[in-house]
Amino acid sequence: MENLWKKNFIDIEPYVAGEQPKSDDIIKLNANENPYPPSPAVMKAIEQFGAEGLRMYPSMDAAPLRQAVAERCGALNGVSLSRENVFIGNGSDDVLATAFRAFFNSDKPILFPDVTYSFYPVWCELLKIPYRTKPVDERFEINASDYAEPNGGVVIPNPNAPTSIGRGLDFVREILELNRDCIVIIDEAYVDFGGESAIPLLSEYGNLLVTQTFSKSRSMAGMRIGMAFGSPELITMLDAVKDSYNSYPMDKLAIVTGIASVNDEEYFRETLAKVISTRDRTAAAMRGMGFNVAESSTNFLFAQHEKLGAKEIFGFLRERGIYVRFWNKPRINNRLRITVGTDEQMDKMLAALKELTAEP
Ligand code: PMP
Repeated sequence: MENLWKKNFIDIEPYVAGEQPKSDDIIKLNANENPYPPSPAVMKAIEQFGAEGLRMYPSMDAAPLRQAVAERCGALNGVSLSRENVFIGNGSDDVLATAFRAFFNSDKPILFPDVTYSFYPVWCELLKIPYRTKPVDERFEINASDYAEPNGGVVIPNPNAPTSIGRGLDFVREILELNRDCIVIIDEAYVDFGGESAIPLLSEYGNLLVTQTFSKSRSMAGMRIGMAFGSPELITMLDAVKDSYNSYPMDKLAIVTGIASVNDEEYFRETLAKVISTRDRTAAAMRGMGFNVAESSTNFLFAQHEKLGAKEIFGFLRERGIYVRFWNKPRINNRLRITVGTDEQMDKMLAALKELTAEP
């Protein structure tokens, strides 16, 4: 007999994250994780975290972390932010999903690029939000004028993923000027690696929401901390949605380690400088082997070889224990996304690429 109860199941195709290797000797360059450990201050906070820290519920609104993030990220961007400008969630995925729920309730479609973070269409399907994608150009650049049509909201990652291309504030301002009557989300997951943050525009645009994460530049993907910056009105709405499904999304360990991380600015800058220098050196070496590598403002490279197919390169590297990201999807199925690892990891990858690309 047919199980008729199945007809009420949700019909969704979930987001697929980069493969998690089973063995330790894999060089994992497929999820844009930072190859360096978090700040020593984070490790100290973990050591000092006692059993008593677990017995009670955490702060409902992660207020101490919001305060630290407001102060530090405000200062990094030369503006003054308060706790009321900051929302905190379980990674920026949680923050973005909360924002989609809170702000995208129009009958008109929301707009985002066709080549972008593949979670956006997944949230739209899950939350029944109509959406329309806008093609990036042949250089994978986003054209601001494409976002001039009536819409229910706009989401732009800047720098974009997986293209690694970052745009200046003039571009973000153009998007905002064209979209005064809806919420514009700028997803800045990778901004610390060389992008330009839209945080200084918050005082001018009450409909702007900027999201960032501790997962990449702060080496804390495992702790799941993400944040949004916006006007107090937007933050209040995000809190209302959060409090409608989970009052305590941030556990106590995340709160104390997040504060320790954001307060260690010296370590943050040192780590960024190392990743950026390895990235630029790797990109140059790859170009010398016949790769077209986009100018990256992130901790990853988006590359295509002049002769060899991306799938073949992906398989070759995988056999040698080097995992990079390949998507069998229109427009990007001849490109690889390669996370910037340590110098040693990148040297191993470059040696493998050299072996593959060397003329016989
Ligand atoms: N935005 C973009 C563009 C990303 O690539 C990612 C990482 N997959 C995220 C947001 C979410 O990262 P997290 O949830 O770890 O903060």
